[in-house]
Amino acid sequence: MFQAVAFYKYVQIEEPDVFAIRHLKYCKRLGITGRILIADEGINGQLSGTRAQCEQYISDLLANPLFVGTDFKIHDEEKPAFQKIHVRYKPEIVNSGLKDIREIDPSIETGTHLSAEDFKKLKDRDDVLVLDVRSNYEHLIGKFKNAKTLDMENFREFPEKLAELEEYKDKTIITYCTGGIKCEKASALLLKRGFKDVYQLDGGILKYGMEGRGEDFEGKCYVFDGRITVDVNSVNPSIITKCIHCGETSARYVNCSNELCNDQIILCEKCGWEWEGACKESCKEAHLSKRAYDGTGYYAKPFAQGRGEKMALDERE
Ligand SMILES: [Zn+2]
Ligand SMILES: [Zn+2]
Repeated sequence: MFQAVAFYKYVQIEEPDVFAIRHLKYCKRLGITGRILIADEGINGQLSGTRAQCEQYISDLLANPLFVGTDFKIHDEEKPAFQKIHVRYKPEIVNSGLKDIREIDPSIETGTHLSAEDFKKLKDRDDVLVLDVRSNYEHLIGKFKNAKTLDMENFREFPEKLAELEEYKDKTIITYCTGGIKCEKASALLLKRGFKDVYQLDGGILKYGMEGRGEDFEGKCYVFDGRITVDVNSVNPSIITKCIHCGETSARYVNCSNELCNDQIILCEKCGWEWEGACKESCKEAHLSKRAYDGTGYYAKPFAQGRGEKMALDERE
């Protein structure tokens, strides 16, 4: 049995580049796999390993005074979600484009964290706006009922989308994202831009799935590893997407088998085989760049250069 661990913390890290090199060595010694981003502003990681490796990692991290109080989301899984370990220094732990907006520092001011229980109480009130701060490819496959979504290819576009929210300035706003990390910045920016009453769903959709059983989350939650999507709602689950070929209800989110296209599409089991994993006729006929469809729609190296960059995982949460 393996475990997956996700965590982040906004905290000032001195010499984050040096820290990252040391941390990589440490992770290799431990034998854990996954992806960790280190920045001046904090740490963000998704890891997988055996239970013993994960427990060791967590206790070692918490032993560092910088990371006291870090919240870890842990779940069991049958096989590791990652094959290698990457620890990288980055300007930000979530690519927000907000780095130069110096007045935002989530370790100082951010939206008030809401527990699953409190979120449930507030979310349907008339004076509350539930705001999805994730990008199109994420909220397409699943989101909270009645949530406002923004038309964004990337979270970097968030600051320019605030103009669309002017009419909600007097409302209570609750932001949510996958694991909570984007909300730290999104809610901080909302406060800076004059929104008065701003909350964020603590630990994001994933934690709400565990603690609030995911009630009223429609569809599935996009995640940033080989699983692509996960179920969060065990109370009133639904599927909000349809196969792009036959229109049947489906939540199979795959990359087009044509590597040069690599678009993320909803493709049902049956059409997957019929279309050999392709999104359209020209992709199906792209014999030079089409990858063999094995029924999963998942490709070991789906993140090609060029267009595929939109799937570059490091950019994501
Ligand atoms: Zn279909
Ligand atoms: Zn295609």
